[in-house]
Amino acid sequence: MTEIKCSVIEDLLPLYVDEVVSDDTKELVEAHLKTCECCRQEYEQMKGILYVPIEHDTSMFEHVQKRWNQKKWLLILSSTLIVAMMSVALFSLTFHYTKPIAYTPELFKVEQQSDGTLMMNYYGDSHAGSNFMHPVKMNINGEEKNVSFVFYEQSFANSPTRTNLRTDVASEGDHFTLSESEKIDAVYYGEFDAKEFMKREEQIKHMTLIWER
Ligand SMILES: [Zn+2]
Repeated sequence: MTEIKCSVIEDLLPLYVDEVVSDDTKELVEAHLKTCECCRQEYEQMKGILYVPIEHDTSMFEHVQKRWNQKKWLLILSSTLIVAMMSVALFSLTFHYTKPIAYTPELFKVEQQSDGTLMMNYYGDSHAGSNFMHPVKMNINGEEKNVSFVFYEQSFANSPTRTNLRTDVASEGDHFTLSESEKIDAVYYGEFDAKEFMKREEQIKHMTLIWER
């Protein structure tokens, strides 16, 4: 057998380790390894790198599996939390987030009682609440008047409990006495921002006069 150079064997070794060489090449490499200590060491080293023991492989897989299980549980837990939070948000939006009820003469009426007090009547189905501002001095068309602001709000859906608790509302309407009635010269209906009190001259432009003395 002709002498083969170590450099040739070195080139062949990776293929030999992967067992993708022909039988002739395999014989050639094995014959050389028997006689050459240097190439044998190279071969052992290469074999060690590429060789993955079965048991090590299994534990690797179990480790990955375990990590995946942890991730899966985290995923389930966080999805559950997100769904819960969204439910709360939706509930709040439906029953607690309110919008003003638009004025119509059928829904809202201010009536002066025999004792002189003013009664605010609401004839709608139900409402989430009402906003009332005590009479404030305002200049209207050159006259100084005591003006009260009022508007009602409704939630996006009527809460079942609210409707059940207030069976009176649908039949005879909802009403309350306007405080400081005797001072009031005019009542305006419309959404107002009590915090922007200084801008009430601006705000009243978007409101409807519903009662005047
Ligand atoms: Zn050699």
